Amino acid sequence: MIQLKQSIDFIADWHRLSAETPEPVRRLAGEIVRQHTVALADIFYQNMLSDEQAKSFLDHELVNQRLHVSLQRWLQELFSGEQHDPQTIYEQQCHIGEVHARIQLPIGLVMRGGRLLKHAIHSYLVESSLERGDLVKAANFVAETIDLALDAMTDYFVIDMEKHARADEAYRMFALGQNMLAERERQRAAILEWAQQILLKLLADGSAAQLPDIKHSEFGMWLQHKAAIIFESAPELEQIRQRIDEVERSLFPKLIESRRNPGGAGALMKEVETGIAEIKFLLGGLFDRFIEVESGRDALTRLLNRRFLPAVLIREMALARRSAVPFSLLLLDLDRFKLINDTYGHGGGDMVLQQAADLVTSSVRAGDFVFRYGGEEMLVVLVEVGSDQALRVAETIREKFAADAFRVGDRQTAGVTVSIGIATYNGHPDYETMLKDADAALYEAKDAGRNRCVMSGR
Ligand code: GH3
Ligand code: MG
Ligand code: MG
Repeated sequence: MIQLKQSIDFIADWHRLSAETPEPVRRLAGEIVRQHTVALADIFYQNMLSDEQAKSFLDHELVNQRLHVSLQRWLQELFSGEQHDPQTIYEQQCHIGEVHARIQLPIGLVMRGGRLLKHAIHSYLVESSLERGDLVKAANFVAETIDLALDAMTDYFVIDMEKHARADEAYRMFALGQNMLAERERQRAAILEWAQQILLKLLADGSAAQLPDIKHSEFGMWLQHKAAIIFESAPELEQIRQRIDEVERSLFPKLIESRRNPGGAGALMKEVETGIAEIKFLLGGLFDRFIEVESGRDALTRLLNRRFLPAVLIREMALARRSAVPFSLLLLDLDRFKLINDTYGHGGGDMVLQQAADLVTSSVRAGDFVFRYGGEEMLVVLVEVGSDQALRVAETIREKFAADAFRVGDRQTAGVTVSIGIATYNGHPDYETMLKDADAALYEAKDAGRNRCVMSGR
C-alpha cells in the first residue's frame, strides 16, 4: 500500500474535480471516451510508432499483442464513471509508472502520449451534443483526469528511478571491488573504542556532557554517510540507530543520575552493556552484508547476489536489442527440498545447495551469470542463447542432477532432482515479464511431476 503525501494530494484533487464537474457532464464525457477507446488507442500508437525515439521502446507485435489492449483498459478504468476508490486508481497509476521506470521509458514520451490523448478526446467532445458551457466543463474534466493520472505515474517513476540509481551505485562499488574487509575491521575497532571510552568516562564519574558523542565519532560518520547509501533499506541500520539513541539519550543520563544514589547503578549498567552488545551484533550482520556486496556473492553458495540481477538484465536486454541476438533465463528450483532438510537436517540441506551451485556453475559458460534467486532457487542468465539451445542446456543440467549423488553428511549421500522453467528474450522491454514467464514455466514443470524442464510459451 503506497501512502505518500502525493497520494493524499491525488485523492483530494480527484474529489475536487468530481465535485466541480456536474454528474451528467462527467457521465457523458466518460461515455464518449469509452465509446472511442479503440480509435484512441489506434491514434495513440500510430503516432508513437512513427516516432524514432518512441519506436525503440515499442515494436509492432508488442503493440498489437498487448499494449493496444492495455491502453484501452487504462482509459476504460480511468473514465469508468463508477464511484471508484481514488486510492486504488492512484496505485494503478503508480504501478504503470513503476513499469515505465523499469523499461527506462523517457518521461517526455509519457507526457507526449498524454497530450495526444487529450487532443483526440477533445475532438470527440466537440462533435458531441454537449452545449457550450458543458463542453468546456467536459473538456476540463477529461484533461484534468489525464493530467492527474500522469502526475501519479511520474511520482512513482521518479521514486523508482532513484531506487535504480542507488542499485547502480551499489553495483558500481561492487564492480570497483572496494576493500570492504578492511573497512569492516576499522569500523569494528571504532565501535569498540567508542564503547570503551564511554565506560571509562562513566567510571571516572563524568557527566553526560563530557561523554563522546557517537554521531561525530568515526563510526557515527560512517553509519550516517556511507552505510546509509549502500544499505539504504537494511533493517539493521535503523535498529542500530535506535539502539544508539536509547543508549545515549536515555540510559546514559539515567546512569549518571543513579550514581548519586548508591546501589541503583548495577541494573542500568547491565542495560548499557546489553545495548552495546546488541549494536555490535547488528553491526556484525550489517558487515556480513557488506562483505557480500563486496564480492557480489551469496555467502553459502558463492553464487551472484540477486541484488545485481536488474543491472544484469537491463544490460543484457539493451545488448539483445542492439545485436538482435536473444538471451535466455533458466529458473531452477530443487524438488522436494524440504524433505532433504527434514531427513538430513539443515546442515545436510546446505551441503546440497553448495554442490547444486557448483553443478550449475560448471554446466554453463564463463560469460553466463548464475544467481542465487531464492532459498533453493537459482537463476541462470544464458547470454547470446536462443530457446533451442537454452532447452538443451537446461536438459543437461537436469540430467546431471538426476544422475549425481549429493553429499549430505560424513558418509551419506542423497538423490536430488531439479525442475527448470525457461524463458527467452522476446523483445518485451520489461525484465519482470521475462522473470514471470520463467516462473510460470517452472510452475508448470512442478505441476507436471517435477524433474523436468518447461519452455515458456511452448
Ligand atoms: P517443491 O518441489 O515444490 O519445490 O518442494 P520443496 O520442498 O522444495 O518446496 P519449497 O520450494 O517451497 O521449499 C523450499 C525449502 O527450502 C524451504 C526451506 O526450508 C528450504 N531452504 C530455503 N533456503 C535454505 C537454505 O539456505 N538452507 C537450507 N538447508 N534449506 C533452505
Ligand atoms: Mg522453492
Ligand atoms: Mg523446491
